[in-house]
Amino acid sequence: NGQLLKVENLTKHYPLGTGFLNKTVPVVRAVEDVSFSVEAGETLCIVGESGCGKSTVARLLMRLVEPTGGRVLIDGTDIAGLKTHELRASRRRMQMVFQDPYSSLNPRLTAGQIITEPVENFERLSRKQRQALAADLLRKVGMRPGMMHRFPSEFSGGQRQRLGIARALALQPSLIIADEAVSALDVSVQAQILNLLLDLQQEMGLAFVFISHDLGVVEHIGHRVAVMYLGRIVELAPCEALFANPVHPYTEALIAAAPVPDPTRVRLEVPVEGEVPSPVNPPSGCAFHPRCPLAVDRCRIEVPPLVPMADGRVVACHVRAPAADTSGRPVAAAS
Ligand code: SF4
Ligand code: MG
Repeated sequence: NGQLLKVENLTKHYPLGTGFLNKTVPVVRAVEDVSFSVEAGETLCIVGESGCGKSTVARLLMRLVEPTGGRVLIDGTDIAGLKTHELRASRRRMQMVFQDPYSSLNPRLTAGQIITEPVENFERLSRKQRQALAADLLRKVGMRPGMMHRFPSEFSGGQRQRLGIARALALQPSLIIADEAVSALDVSVQAQILNLLLDLQQEMGLAFVFISHDLGVVEHIGHRVAVMYLGRIVELAPCEALFANPVHPYTEALIAAAPVPDPTRVRLEVPVEGEVPSPVNPPSGCAFHPRCPLAVDRCRIEVPPLVPMADGRVVACHVRAPAADTSGRPVAAAS
């Protein structure tokens, strides 16, 4: 099997507070039945508004939180069954780059110490080995080796994110999970970091799970895109097809509302009409129905399944991708 990462029916419910006098504790349905796979060298983007569960997916993949249900397989191995030392080994294959380059680096360590630390968790390095590794990693992310002696406070936001990437590369992973990795940066710096990631992908055959609320960024970097709404994937499609022809009404609304790239303009965080409902008490049936212009009675009752379409995408929508339609054509075109 050529799949590097396979995610099957991943689910995460958080209890909201603790139980009191045997009252049922409300549950946040952060991630609900999420499945996807990532091949070597591929970029899978996960998009959606804040609160849709995309960051929880990242944390589940890194096993920073335990799933309520479902599986994560790396090279065909279920990480849930791994013993501690095996889990450490599987973590070498998968590294994470975080959103905030200002708080994710230890301010008391030098750049060299920060980026070589993941390796030193596995093996002791001599001073010479550490310096050689730091120099190599800094060059990979377009920084001068002499910078290894500086502290995080001496770097710009873009340089700090380069350090975050260098640190993620230290263990030579096959997959990097990037959660809003460029969102905190200025637009011009964003472009530099995205191009660095694309170059590294070319050189090292890296795969990315790239999580972002920013469709402009996703269109630039993605091979395939999964759109999440209230904990579920509602559409997963090749990047070009998704932008050229969004099928799910939510995807369509997101793309229609996305501002044209313009560095002087602030991107909208909630681009679709209406409020994002709470994942504590999500709407019945299709969770998008209170905001959906195409909603029919069935949408309030049944959760739409993800249905494969002819062009290789999957869509969860009773109207646009009815489960009974095996022709693979959207019903809107057929009726
Ligand atoms: Fe809209 Fe119904 Fe499709 Fe949900 S299932 S997106 S409510 S048409
Ligand atoms: Mg987030």
